[in-house]
Amino acid sequence: MMKSNYLRLADVARVAKQFDAPLRVNVYQAVRSDIYALSYEEYWEGFRRLFEQTDVIAIGEPLVRAMAGLPPLRSGCGVSTVRVTPRGTTQPCVYWPGSGEPLSDLISAGVNILTSTPFEQARTLPQICNPCQFREPCHGGCAGRRRLQGALLEPDSYCPIIRGQRPRLPIRMAARPRSSEAEQFLHHRRHRQVARLMRMVLLNSDGGLCVTSLDGHSADRLPD
Ligand code: SF4
Repeated sequence: MMKSNYLRLADVARVAKQFDAPLRVNVYQAVRSDIYALSYEEYWEGFRRLFEQTDVIAIGEPLVRAMAGLPPLRSGCGVSTVRVTPRGTTQPCVYWPGSGEPLSDLISAGVNILTSTPFEQARTLPQICNPCQFREPCHGGCAGRRRLQGALLEPDSYCPIIRGQRPRLPIRMAARPRSSEAEQFLHHRRHRQVARLMRMVLLNSDGGLCVTSLDGHSADRLPD
C-alpha cells in the first residue's frame, strides 16, 4: 500500500480473485525515499476503503490489528521470524537498517538469536505506550517503521491514540473453510510449516501485513 495505490486496493483484490488468490498488503516503508509514503490520513483511509469491500483473512499490521479489535498476535518481527539477507547476515525485520549480524551467530545461537540486541530492540515497547488500552495487540506499532524513522522509542507514526483519535475500522472476517476445503486448508498448513523452515535461509520481504480476500479461506491468525 503506497501513496499511488492506497485507494485502489479493493480493485487489486478483484484481480486476485480472478485467480482464486488472496491479496496480501504490505504498507510501503520509506527505506530510500519517502516519495510513496502514506500520510497518516492516507494510511487509515486506505485500510478503511479496503475493508469496506473485502473480507479479512488475517492482519499483521499491529496498529490496524488493534483498531480492528483483534487479539494480540504472538508472532512476527523480533518474536518468531529471522530474516537472512543475501549478504549472509540476519535481521529481525527486512526493513531494519544496517547490515545485520553474521549468519554464523544464528547457526551457533539458534533460537537464542531472539535474545540478541536487534531482536530485543524489535520488541521494544515505547514508554508512552505503557498505559494504552491497545498495548497488547499493538505494542507500539511497527518496530521496523519506528527504527527506520529513527524513532524506535516513540509510538508508530500512524498511531491515532497519541493524536487523541480512535478511527472506526469495521472488518468482516472471511468465512471459515467449507468441509470440502478443509483438506486444502490442512495442506496449506503443512506447506506453511515447510515455509517456516525455509524462512531461515531465504530473504523474506515481510513487513507488517494484512491479507484480504473477496471470499477467501479463513484464518483466525496470521499464517506462520
Ligand atoms: S499508543 Fe502505542 S500501543 Fe497504543 S495504539 Fe499507539 S502505538 Fe499502539
